[in-house]
Amino acid sequence: MGKDKGNITDLEAEVIYNGLCCYCGTCGAFCKEYITYENEIPVTKKKCYEIHGACYDFCPRTFFAPFEVERAVFGEVRTDNLLGYYKGDILTARATDDAIIKKAQDGGVVSALLVYLLEQGEIDAAVVSKTSEDWVAEPFVATNRADVLAAAGSKYTQCPSVSGVGDALEQGYKNVALVGLPCHIQGMRKVQLSTGFDVGADRVKLLIGLLCSETFDMPMLMTKLEELGTSIKEVAKFNIKKGSFIVYTKAGKEIKTPIKNMRGCVREACDYCYDFAAEFADISVGSIGSELGWSTVITRTDAAKDLVERAQKAGVIETKKLSEEQVNAVRKLASYKKQGNLKRIYDKCEPVRILNMQVEPEKLEQFLGGE
Ligand SMILES: Cc1cc2nc3c(=O)[nH]c(=O)nc-3n(C[C@H](O)[C@H](O)[C@H](O)COP(=O)(O)OP(=O)(O)OC[C@H]3O[C@@H](n4cnc5c(N)ncnc54)[C@H](O)[C@@H]3O)c2cc1C
Ligand code: SF4
Ligand code: SF4
Repeated sequence: MGKDKGNITDLEAEVIYNGLCCYCGTCGAFCKEYITYENEIPVTKKKCYEIHGACYDFCPRTFFAPFEVERAVFGEVRTDNLLGYYKGDILTARATDDAIIKKAQDGGVVSALLVYLLEQGEIDAAVVSKTSEDWVAEPFVATNRADVLAAAGSKYTQCPSVSGVGDALEQGYKNVALVGLPCHIQGMRKVQLSTGFDVGADRVKLLIGLLCSETFDMPMLMTKLEELGTSIKEVAKFNIKKGSFIVYTKAGKEIKTPIKNMRGCVREACDYCYDFAAEFADISVGSIGSELGWSTVITRTDAAKDLVERAQKAGVIETKKLSEEQVNAVRKLASYKKQGNLKRIYDKCEPVRILNMQVEPEKLEQFLGGE
């Protein structure tokens, strides 16, 4: 994938100041001298203009060719438009280790697989997302079970996770796994498939994607929590279940609000996102479709399918096949996100030009003979 070329100034104009930046951390991951992150956006420390352009090439929001990535990563393209390409059955699973379950968001599958891979020596580092008291999510290079457990659980604000891959490679790790949201996975795939820049991404061996509807802007989330009668420092855990946003406080209170009330806190960049199921990961994990305390698991590559089978045989996780009805619940949420955001993407788009025809994107189907 090397369709377009641009530099740091193009990245600023097209993505950062155009409301498209999802703060994934890919642009600065391998150019720390030039790009840093402040207030949840990239900040240029120093211009490099024509010298480089890796930031533009790697950013998932400059250009992204889904089918090209699928052919390169999976060897073929999807037949399931909502969930993307996958291999084998979609599963529901959970960790067997109580200590993991206790710390994890859902079934603890992500943490259990990372601990298994580290303890088997199959990876030497896992890039995860850790927070302190104030819930600011930061990339963290985990190298053992305690590290993985310390970073378990979902943070519903964004984390520049791919920059943690830059840290891991800089620190000399040779077999790295990344846990990320669909936008992180897209950025990481662009790094791996870049024909223009080699940053040693062949050392990144496994991409674990989390299903994602949206993330919240931190200042807006803090204001919303005040409205709900709590504060960020009081929060022990967040969850999104059955149409509700749930806050569990350290004092043992449970505060629930309909997820639609959180709409005002969603990051603008998430409005233009068309990937729910982390479609380009090796393995995707979420909660929708599974019972409470279990995780939905979609394997997309042979290596990921083999990993899940081995972890199950080793007794690290238990698995069951997800029923068609449960899989349809996953598809329904994916469709809800894609359809909702498609409208916003159309609104954001400029007219497209095909040969000599210039037409608004939403009119294209109508013009070419649709209903
Ligand atoms: C912002 C966000 C939105 C989500 N939306 C949905 C949804 O709409 N539907 C759905 O079914 N599932 C969604 N999920 C996935 C779900 O919350 C769980 O992460 C998933 O089920 C895995 O659970 P687990 O118990 O196996 O993970 P755990 O064992 O708890 O491990 C979770 C891993 O994810 C990492 N992580 C946590 N937050 C982030 C973050 N912000 N960025 C990068 N890495 C992170 C942690 O460091 C940890 O390694 C979302 C997750 C996040 C973070
Ligand atoms: S790479 Fe990620 S953080 Fe950087 S500009 Fe693009 S979307 Fe934003
Ligand atoms: S909705 Fe898309 S852009 Fe927003 S955090 Fe999730 S994957 Fe990233």
